[in-house]
Amino acid sequence: MLVLKNYLKTRDLINKININTKIVVVTKNFSLESIKPLIDFGHLDFAENKVQEATNKWANLIILNPLLKLHMIGKVQSNKAKDAFKIFHYIHTLDNEKLAQIFSKLEENSTKKIRYFIQVNVGNEPQKSGISIDKVHQFIKYCINDLKLNIYGLMCIPPDKVDPTQYFISLLKVAKANNLIELSMGMSNDYECAINNGATFVRIGSKIFGDN
Ligand SMILES: *Cc1c(COP(=O)(O)O)cnc(C)c1O
Repeated sequence: MLVLKNYLKTRDLINKININTKIVVVTKNFSLESIKPLIDFGHLDFAENKVQEATNKWANLIILNPLLKLHMIGKVQSNKAKDAFKIFHYIHTLDNEKLAQIFSKLEENSTKKIRYFIQVNVGNEPQKSGISIDKVHQFIKYCINDLKLNIYGLMCIPPDKVDPTQYFISLLKVAKANNLIELSMGMSNDYECAINNGATFVRIGSKIFGDN
C-alpha cells in the first residue's frame, strides 16, 4: 500500500498549496496491479503517454467504471489519432494542424468531445514538441473557430535543469491573453512552482510510484 500512502501524502501537499488543483496520476510504465489501490480508493484521473499501452491497460476498466478519465500526455502520431480518440478523454499534447484536423473529423462523426490542451514549446527547444509561443494565438483561433475543437487549456514541459518559473509564467500569460483558464503544468519535481504560477492540472508520476 506504499503507492496509496505516497498518493495521499502528495495530494495533501498539493491541496495545501491550492485545493482546486486537479491531480492527474501518470501511470505510464506501471502495471494495473500497482495502480489498482488508487482506482479502488476512488481516484479518477490517470495519464498515459502511449496509445497502445493506454488501450491495453485501461479499455476494460473504463467500461467497468465510466467515471474514470484518461489523459494523453505523450506525442500523438497522426496514424494513432483514431485509436487515441477512442480511449482518451483529455489530450494534453495537441501540437500541430494536421492532428487537429484529424480530431475534428473524428468528432464530426461522433458524439464524443475531447478536452484538448495545446502543448506550447515554452523554451523554444528544437527537440521538444509544441507550438511556439508566437504562433499559439493563431493556432488556438484555428482550432476553435475553424475546427470547432474544445480547446480546454494550454500545456507545457519546461526545459530541464533550470528554474521553470519564467516558463510557467509565460504559459499563464499566453493563456490569459487567449481567455483560456486551464493550465496543465508541473510534474513531480516542479509541481509546487507550477501551482504557485497558475497550474490547474499537475501531472504526477514518480512521486507516487517511485522511479521506474
Ligand atoms: C512522465 C511524465 C510526467 C510525470 O513525470 P514525473 O516526474 O514522473 O512526475 C508528466 N508529464 C509528462 C508529459 C510525462 O511524460
